[in-house]
Amino acid sequence: MRKIISVLLLLTTVAMLFSSCANMRGEEETTPPAESVTKEPETETETETETETETETETETETETETETEVVTQTEPEPIRVTELTLDKYEVTIFVGGFDMPWVTMQPSDATDKSEIWSSNNTSVATVDWYGNIYGVSPGDCTVTVKSADNPDAFADVAVHVKEKPPETTAADTTAAPEPETTPPANTGAAKYEPAPPVSGFPGLTYINGILIANKTYALPSDYNPGVDGTAYAALMDMFAGAASEGISLWIASGFRSYDTQNWLYNNYVAMDGKALADTYSARPGHSEHQTGLAFDLNIVADYFANTPEGIWLANNCWKYGFIIRYPAGKEGVTGYKYEPWHVRYLGTDLSTAVYNSGLCLEEYLGITSVYGY
Ligand SMILES: [Zn+2]
Repeated sequence: MRKIISVLLLLTTVAMLFSSCANMRGEEETTPPAESVTKEPETETETETETETETETETETETETETETEVVTQTEPEPIRVTELTLDKYEVTIFVGGFDMPWVTMQPSDATDKSEIWSSNNTSVATVDWYGNIYGVSPGDCTVTVKSADNPDAFADVAVHVKEKPPETTAADTTAAPEPETTPPANTGAAKYEPAPPVSGFPGLTYINGILIANKTYALPSDYNPGVDGTAYAALMDMFAGAASEGISLWIASGFRSYDTQNWLYNNYVAMDGKALADTYSARPGHSEHQTGLAFDLNIVADYFANTPEGIWLANNCWKYGFIIRYPAGKEGVTGYKYEPWHVRYLGTDLSTAVYNSGLCLEEYLGITSVYGY
């Protein structure tokens, strides 16, 4: 017992010496390191020594119990690590321009950080975005990998096969001499792309001049979840083929987005950049044109895309296939969005040609606004 007391006294002396040494140093320098280095131990030592010096009759076991309890408290807030990552499918076959998304499950289900990191080992065959949408770029095979951000040992590979898009099933087949497959629609507008057929019986959709509108003024219902529109997708594939025949490679960076996806995305941007800035480049849920299934982000979602051969080709030619550059340069005040050279909207060739020739953005052409009312 005496031994313990003398050890404790020694500790107290050391602690006192330490603190007086710390006080002797310059104020500015010592304050932060002294705090950060000795914060917890200091408090513990002081408490222990005080208690024990005062009550010399305390038993050894009591002291030990105290220390043990403290250790337990310190280890409590450990995060729950991801131990296992599985997918609903480990192989996907998609067409050029198409996409698919394996579903990820991480164990344990209450893991603290379940973020995913996606990568493709050959982005000229297939790319993958941060949600896990795998997009077919050109025919071939590659591997897409998803890992847990928390535990890189928890990962899975997806074997990706990208196939050439099958030929369109035209009514005339090959006998009736339709346009040769390699010839894109002529510049004169020989090929006509009809607007997507209106959706009937879905309350809350706004059609203006037969066109489904989603902008800052007009929202889509949260349960409107149509997926990519078939008419728009077929026209997009024709445009990809037309571009390819001129040596231009286009691909989908982002297509249909559900209300929930947009909600998640927008809230992430708000957390990152604040609401005011996020509103200039990301739509609030229900207001995204991607939720219509009629809009696509192509190739590179970055300002410099406008100056690439692909971006220039898209700006000059997309109207021939029924698309417009939806948020043109210089129209930020009308569309409510900064210039997005990568974002195209399908309208059908009648309207896309008219809008293109007018030099107006869609809001101006239709005489509508795009302003949040809340
Ligand atoms: Zn977009």
